[in-house]
Amino acid sequence: MRQAVALHPWGRPGHLTSQNNQLYIDGVNTVELIAEYGSPLYVYSEPKLRQNANDILSNFRRVHANTTVCFASKANANIAVLQVFKDAGLSIEINSGGEFFKAKTAGYSAKEMVFNGVAKLRPELEQVIAEDIKAINVDSIAELERILSVAQALNKKANVTLRIVPEIKGGAAAGWETGTSSSKFGMTREEQRIAIALINANPDFLTMTGIHAHIGTQVTDLNAYQKEAEFLIAYAKEVSALMPYPLQHINLGGGYPKNYSSSEENWHSVAQHYQENYRTDVDFETIAKVLIQPMTDALGTDIELIVEPGRSMMSDTAILLSRIECEKQRSDHPVYYLDAGYNILFDIYSGWYFHMLNASRADDKDTKLCRMAGPLCDSTDTYYDVEGEGRVKSLLAAEPALSAHHATLEQVLVHQPNLRELPANTQNGDIIALLDTGAYALEMMNEYCGRASAAAVMTDMQQGSKLIRRRSEPEDLLRFEVYES
Ligand SMILES: *Cc1c(COP(=O)(O)O)cnc(C)c1O
Repeated sequence: MRQAVALHPWGRPGHLTSQNNQLYIDGVNTVELIAEYGSPLYVYSEPKLRQNANDILSNFRRVHANTTVCFASKANANIAVLQVFKDAGLSIEINSGGEFFKAKTAGYSAKEMVFNGVAKLRPELEQVIAEDIKAINVDSIAELERILSVAQALNKKANVTLRIVPEIKGGAAAGWETGTSSSKFGMTREEQRIAIALINANPDFLTMTGIHAHIGTQVTDLNAYQKEAEFLIAYAKEVSALMPYPLQHINLGGGYPKNYSSSEENWHSVAQHYQENYRTDVDFETIAKVLIQPMTDALGTDIELIVEPGRSMMSDTAILLSRIECEKQRSDHPVYYLDAGYNILFDIYSGWYFHMLNASRADDKDTKLCRMAGPLCDSTDTYYDVEGEGRVKSLLAAEPALSAHHATLEQVLVHQPNLRELPANTQNGDIIALLDTGAYALEMMNEYCGRASAAAVMTDMQQGSKLIRRRSEPEDLLRFEVYES
């Protein structure tokens, strides 16, 4: 893609604003936050977290009162974040013993948890079964056998919900899909029949609590949700006929999208790939209509519906602030080096798009096009797609006839804008804000290249900011080392 996404307009009234040309979040000056806490810095908005929680609960429960929202904690397992969601009325989804530990630390009981994963460990199963977890979403027959053996050893009854492969394509890229048998998740119908027989043969140790499907992430295609509802309705009836008791719940998974573009106006010039995947109007009200309503219509209001949203609860609740530490002039464009690379924001490694603002010059109208890079000694640590651009180049070199399709090749193969539009006065020392960085970020940070991981703060309108995660220190680099000094 040759064109950058336009910088202006970017405002989000009541949340991201500007005063004296500087970016504010929830009324807090971002440049002052960096002076106080250092850079890079994640800034989470408590009002946004609460707004998202209220938004999903009210929209889904209006359509189906008996709906439980289990926040997918792999999207963000910071304790302060989990506490806000608990206070706002959410339950939680975990996918490891570590997340079980964090959820309990944040105050959730096992009865408020559902447990996902393709290869759950025996000690993890022992812990959650001992504490009567609400549901283990079973991914395979081998796992069900392991659960049975743990339940027998503990003389407990395990709540099991079967994860089915609905054969629905629910994501833009293969790596975003989780609902087809070419993905690594779930059980086929044939496997489920065997699983149900095993459950029915062991009523003292296994309770079949429900069925589960999860079709992908950032699923913007409404058709996929309609198909998921149709599938689960038919399948719930089929399974119920095989069970001596009714199912307690149907788990619809997560995958709801969030808008990653700053505004509609500045988004029209970008490649189709971006239009379809990062720019979306699909909100919780829409999902309630296409996914929840059909379930209520077909199955009534008694059965509990569980949903597991992660990204859609988190992405727009945080920004990442990062200082420009160096600049170079290359060909036509300046290159700016941020102090945040993919060790801080891992999704840039796989080419996820995040909009950028200059927090130090938020309202400057004069702009220029630049290349943005991270600080790591790794050539893929860039905010453009160096590998995609390379693939286009080598294809064109190998097949000159393809040059007629240059633009199409770029649309398909290049998954980042090659340039960013930023204020013309942008310079070394400025603070850049990356928007919508609340999901799949904090937990994926690491100290690669010996670089400190970022601190995180939470803002609210009344109290300003508070630290919710400290920056790592050099001593932290030694915390797993075993050595003689
Ligand atoms: C990751 C995951 C989720 C959350 O997905 P999002 O796209 O973040 O909403 C929900 N359920 C399961 C089983 C998952 O693996």
